[in-house]
This record gives sequence, structure tokens and C-alpha cells, in this order.
Amino acid sequence: MALIVQKYGGTSVGTPERIKNVAERVARFQARGDQVIVVVSAMSGETNRLIALCKEVAAAPDPRELDVVVSTGEQVTIGLLCMALHDIGIKAKSYTGSQVRILTDSAHTKARILNIDEAPIRKDLDEGNVVVVAGFQGVDEHGSITTLGRGGSDTTGVALAAALKADECQIYTDVDGVYTTDPRVVPEARKLDTITFEEMLELASLGSKVLQIRSVEFAGKYKVKLRVLSSFQEEGAGTLITVEEDQNMEQPVISGIAFNRDEAKLTVVGAPDKPGIAYQILGPIADANIDVDMIIQNVGHDGATDFSFTVARGDLGKAMKVLETHRGQIGARAFESDNTMAKVSIVGVGMRSHPGVASLMFRTLAEEGINIQMISTSEIKISVAIEEKYLELAVRVLHKAFKLDEA
Ligand code: ASP
Ligand code: MG
Repeated sequence: MALIVQKYGGTSVGTPERIKNVAERVARFQARGDQVIVVVSAMSGETNRLIALCKEVAAAPDPRELDVVVSTGEQVTIGLLCMALHDIGIKAKSYTGSQVRILTDSAHTKARILNIDEAPIRKDLDEGNVVVVAGFQGVDEHGSITTLGRGGSDTTGVALAAALKADECQIYTDVDGVYTTDPRVVPEARKLDTITFEEMLELASLGSKVLQIRSVEFAGKYKVKLRVLSSFQEEGAGTLITVEEDQNMEQPVISGIAFNRDEAKLTVVGAPDKPGIAYQILGPIADANIDVDMIIQNVGHDGATDFSFTVARGDLGKAMKVLETHRGQIGARAFESDNTMAKVSIVGVGMRSHPGVASLMFRTLAEEGINIQMISTSEIKISVAIEEKYLELAVRVLHKAFKLDEA
């Protein structure tokens, strides 16, 4: 007998029919003798609808009241799923976040989980119930409803699995696992049987949207066994997210390729090449709450240097304005911008032990005549900024060069 947490995302509970399918799946696990805790998201589109509704009433809704409204999406699905379970003869009980008492801090719309009271859940399970918990929500010490940030049901699932020391946390979604890259760009992309937490974190932060990044951090920290699976397939083991040490097989050098079209580049031309210049440029950008991604400062000539950095495209206009406002202080010749950039990243823990990964990446891109404009690295990741029109080509040739299409 195992204790399993299953989390179903919005598309998996998007229609009454799909909710009934989830009930059937849960019933199969229970019939096997497992104890099951189910975490559900709101039906797909519902959270967006609720947020839009709030914004129709008030331009800047009060965060506490916003949480009161948006948390109702999940309250609907827990009730519906329990009804569907009862209908096929399964004992089930639903709980909102505040009922189970998922205690969070008071940071409305992005609250963090502090504690979960596991005793009542255990009691229900031991009495033969499936316990169905609303994802994405909790309650603070004052009894106010909080929410955990978009995509937060993943974190609810992982947190419950950690609190109850579940044998596995299964995240059911509309894809059957984590892929080497987006199959819409590279049809040869393969589903990975396993991937390490570190790699998954990099991929999530690089814009691969399979799991909410905080849930991966959480799972890594509490050593929760996490698996991504499709709710639309009967069979399949999905992708298991592992701790690196657990993997006995030889690691492939690269596990996946992520990409992101949402990059814009700003260049400060002819900035004075003196200590503090990076701070003079990026300080005001940070003060304006703009996230900077990649940064490059060129070798100076005749006391001047070019300094480039990238931001999300939506922030480009704001960032240019900030630079203009600080023109005097920065002392540059000109500011240039380019909003047709993209970023391609290769990720793999195997990079640590295999030299030559960067050179293979750069050679592969060079052979296609793709110009690399910026580079950034971590221990297990290399990212390059290129012109957006070469993005798909770059991903395809890299996928091949690193033999990701070969099982
Ligand atoms: N329903 C919430 C959202 O759409 C939480 C989730 O789906 O995980 O962001
Ligand atoms: Mg979701």
C-alpha cells in the first residue's frame, strides 16, 4: 500500500467528462490498495475569468479580496470531483486550503506555505476516504484566504506530499512527461524517463512550463518523489524527477533544450569604461523593478565601452525610458534597442564532467551561420541570445548535434 498525492491541472478537470475520468483513475489507484490525496486546479480558463471579473469591478483590486474571489475556482472542482467519486461508489471528502489548514504567510496573491496540519487528513485516509484538496490556496494566521501565485496547485501537491511523507507526488497534465525540447519545434523530441531536480529547475526557469518552478524547488528540498504524467493516457510512466545521486545510468551530456522568444536587448554605446558603470546602468533598471536576464560588457577602447543587457520584451519601453532619464549620470554616446531576440539554452548535469559542450554548441550554430550575440552560463546550462528568426533552426540543429533524438 502506498500513499500517493495526485495533482490534476486545469485542462485535466476542464469539463464534467474529464472530471469523471479523473474519478475513474483515482478509483483504480484505490482499488490497488493505495491511499490517495487529490489536489485539483480550477477548471481551465476559470482563474483567468475570475481575475478579469475582479478587474472589471476595480482597476487595482485589493489583494486580500482578489484572493477571496480567485480561490473559488478550485472550490468548485473539489466539490465536483467528490460528487463524481461518490457516484462510482468511492468515499471522498473535499477540503479548501483553509479547511485542511494549509497555513501560509500573508503575502496575498503570492503566499508561501508555512505549515500543513496532517492529522485530519490522515484520519480521513485511514477511514477509507479519498481526500480532495483545493490547490493554489491557503489561509494566513488571521484567517484570511491566500493564494500561492499562478500555477500554485503544483506547489500544494508537493507540499502535501512532503507533509504526509507520501511515496510519490504525481502531477497530471496534458503532456505525457518532460521532453528533450518542444515537440512542436522538433518532431524528433523524445520524452525523458528521468530528469534531475537541478535540470528541471533550469528548464522551468528558462520558460518550459510543465511544472511551476516553486514546486520543483520544494520537491528538491524535501526530497519528494515527483512524477509528471498525462491525464489523457491510461498507461505510461511519465517522467520521474530524480535526485542526481539516484541515477546509476551514465548521464547523457545534455538532457534538454529550452528556448524563449521573450527577449529584448538594450545596448549602451560608448559608456565610460570606469568602475561602477555596470551599477550606474543597472541600478536604475533594478529600482524600476525590471528583471535583467543576460548581461555583456565589451572590452573597452579609448576609455569607452559598449554594455548590453536583455529584459523581457514587455519591459523594453520602460527600460529605455529609465536609461533616457539617467542619460547624464551614465554618460553614454547612445542607447540602442532590439526587440527581436530569442534565447536558446542547453541544460544537462553531464556538462560538469564533459568538456567541449560549449564548443560543440558554438560550432553547431556557426555552421548554420547563426550569430551569437550574448552568452551566459551556469554549471549545468549554457544560454545564447540570437536573432529570433533563427530560433527554430538553432533548436533543431542543436537537438541533433547533441544526439537528443537518439534514445
Ligand atoms: N488555478 C490556478 C491558476 O490558474 C492555479 C493552478 O492552476 O495551478 O494559476
Ligand atoms: Mg494550471
